[in-house]
Amino acid sequence: MTRSEERRDPRRPVSVWRSQDLVDGRPAQALTMILRTVGCRWNRCTMCGYAGEGAPASADDLIIQFESAMEKCSPEVTVVKIYTSGSFLDSEEMPAGARIEILRRLENAGIEKLIIETRPEYVNPDAVEECLSHLQTEFAMGLESANDLIREHLIRKGFLFQDFVRASEMVHGQGGGVKAYLLLKPPFLTEGQAMRDAISSARAARPYADIISLNLCNVQRNTVVERMWEKGEYRPPWLWSALEVLKSSPGPIICDPVGAGTRRGPHNCGQCDAALAEAIRKHDLTQDARPFDDLHCQCKEAWQKLMELEEQSFGTPLC
Ligand code: SF4
Ligand SMILES: [Zn+2]
Repeated sequence: MTRSEERRDPRRPVSVWRSQDLVDGRPAQALTMILRTVGCRWNRCTMCGYAGEGAPASADDLIIQFESAMEKCSPEVTVVKIYTSGSFLDSEEMPAGARIEILRRLENAGIEKLIIETRPEYVNPDAVEECLSHLQTEFAMGLESANDLIREHLIRKGFLFQDFVRASEMVHGQGGGVKAYLLLKPPFLTEGQAMRDAISSARAARPYADIISLNLCNVQRNTVVERMWEKGEYRPPWLWSALEVLKSSPGPIICDPVGAGTRRGPHNCGQCDAALAEAIRKHDLTQDARPFDDLHCQCKEAWQKLMELEEQSFGTPLC
């Protein structure tokens, strides 16, 4: 099998890893698996390149992927996160038979909590009940921004804040948990606009989400964001902006600074990126933002100046 065939093998998960995460206010051992499905049915968001990971996986293939991921499980693991780079509750992506079998096997394995991702349109009473009848479940939704104009026109997400609210209230009404993903920094916004939008979105989403997860935009392949980045029209967020959002948002709020310090990922000057990424990871477990005040670097002034100048640049990013 060639490497590219291996990458598209419908019987292999995209990736699997173990981590210590903040779950229900305390650290817990988690197993995360990204299952390779046919991909997200929406597939239009301007920053999303997940379509490149898809393969036409059948129900049997998905159970084989799940079992191979569970080989990394051990008795300390209490939380399993199943991501599909799409919607676990969409039966075109995750056939109902495979979903029910996976839920049953997780329950039998004694897993306490499951976290899945889904778009809000697939959240309905039957789907929610199906999960909750097997184990405690958190439904993670990519709200990205609480601002409908930003979500609709800059991210092209295809649903309204009210759709997220409806899904969240349904989940809560049935006894499940909700996680809202927010995006720092959608294309077409200045650094300051993006930062302020993430903070106001966290405040608006808070009543409907048990936990907020801040995603720092990465430049993924074959996306609108990548085309803009190649032309110098997009810069991923500064890590200083991420600290500001984490400091100013109502908790609990977590953030995995994926790709921090790389050109395609959130970055500062290159000198301080590792220290800031480490502080962000620590904050996940402690929820204590005070150590952020001890972080210093010469580039902080440049970041502040850039935000002032960008306000006057009529939408041109100053990278
Ligand atoms: S961000 Fe989510 S909803 Fe948007 S295309 Fe990607 S997987 Fe689909
Ligand atoms: Zn720096």
